[in-house]
Amino acid sequence: MSWTNIITGWRNHFIPPEELKEVIKQVSEERLTICEQCPLHSKHLKNSLRPDAHCTSCGCTLIMKTKVLAEQCPTGKWKAIDININNQNEH
Ligand code: SF4
Repeated sequence: MSWTNIITGWRNHFIPPEELKEVIKQVSEERLTICEQCPLHSKHLKNSLRPDAHCTSCGCTLIMKTKVLAEQCPTGKWKAIDININNQNEH
């Protein structure tokens, strides 16, 4: 995950852009539901020192990664969202 996307993810977590707020919330919830059922979720680790729920494949913090619309699951369980498609009907 690039530094740009990491910054975007935390920005979207704490202060999401107003016009994307609902999309980000919905997409993140759907992705987190999938992650919760995934064997690569950090909750399955016995001796992890990291307190955050993260993906053991890519290492990313899930509450942040799932809020980056352009990100995707490293094993293909959820896809990137093309935000241009979402905005097409707004003009
Ligand atoms: S990002 Fe993908 S591989 Fe990682 S925990 Fe979520 S569903 Fe599993």
